[in-house]
Amino acid sequence: MKKILQDLTLPQLEVLMNDYGEKSYRAKQIHRAMHAGLKISEISDIPKSLREKLLLEYEDEPVRILETIYSKDGTEKFLFSLSDGNIIEGVLMKYAYGNTQCVSTQVGCRMNCAFCASGLNGLVRNLSSGEILSQIYVVNRTHGGTTDKRFVTNVVLMGSGEPLDNYDNVVEFIREVNCSDGINISQRNISLSTCGLVPQMLKLADEGLQVNLSVSLHNPFDSTRKKIMPVANKYSVAEILRACDYYFEKTGRRFIFEYSLIKGENDTRACADELIKLLAKRPCHVNLIRLNAVPERGLKATADADAYAFLSMLEKGGVSVTLRRRAGADIGGACGQLRNKYIDKNSGDISD
Ligand code: SAH
Repeated sequence: MKKILQDLTLPQLEVLMNDYGEKSYRAKQIHRAMHAGLKISEISDIPKSLREKLLLEYEDEPVRILETIYSKDGTEKFLFSLSDGNIIEGVLMKYAYGNTQCVSTQVGCRMNCAFCASGLNGLVRNLSSGEILSQIYVVNRTHGGTTDKRFVTNVVLMGSGEPLDNYDNVVEFIREVNCSDGINISQRNISLSTCGLVPQMLKLADEGLQVNLSVSLHNPFDSTRKKIMPVANKYSVAEILRACDYYFEKTGRRFIFEYSLIKGENDTRACADELIKLLAKRPCHVNLIRLNAVPERGLKATADADAYAFLSMLEKGGVSVTLRRRAGADIGGACGQLRNKYIDKNSGDISD
């Protein structure tokens, strides 16, 4: 596998140009072109000889859109292929305030949450920062966006993978996507979602970043959380809440809890009461979403009426909370579902 040019920051590109014996302004040209989603072979303002030299060492197109699936609600789902043949997926959701892209940070995942399709086959590998960035560059470009006039305005690290299990590349990604010479998406428009890796949450708080932190809570009781999230055997809800408080202390950013409603598992009065006890006085918001049932996982979504009842219990208890619509539910919206389907189809197992 060749190297990935999008992994390099502007100063690193300057070093490369220096090694190549090129003028340093070439680095800026290449950097801008990368952020605009151009392939190396398309950078027309650098000499052909330089393009050819780069192509000997670097991938022309590290992330390619293999397939786009359109939902009735305007959501788009992408299957991307990587240069080593791996497949990842992403989502684009359109809102009044802008367009949010959901990116993957790993191929597969090793967290193995009981409801999630991403971890069904474990972790294959981490994505490099350039591979995470390229998902955005390519979608932004495909929709007519540039670095000056972005189509993708918001980013959520909520695709396949556990972002904090790929810590260094993810932090590098956040710094680079926010680069003023490039696509420059504001850190405040970026949300990182974690299943609750406490040491990395604490480390992230000290990075001096301004990204929004989301935690997939899904159950306020350790004993039952452990049944759906193996990571809960390592870190308790109390430790997670302390890490969130520290994140707020350091960044001033209110934190978010993701809570996927699973029938009979986490939608009970007792769960609502515990959430109220833990969260009502904290600077946080709860995003409720009905489970996107993954057939292989055997869990069911809470019925609509019960979801509204749960929402109302939390509201009455003073928790800031919303029940979110399931964007793209008709097109396999849940993490990892599309990739699994694609892989199955192409290995001749299931033909959905
Ligand atoms: N590993 C990170 C990033 C995944 S983000 C994390 O755990 O936060 C994706 C969000 O969708 C997480 O809150 C995850 O728990 C949730 N999720 C995964 N599969 C789901 C499903 N089938 N239905 C509803 N939510 C799901």
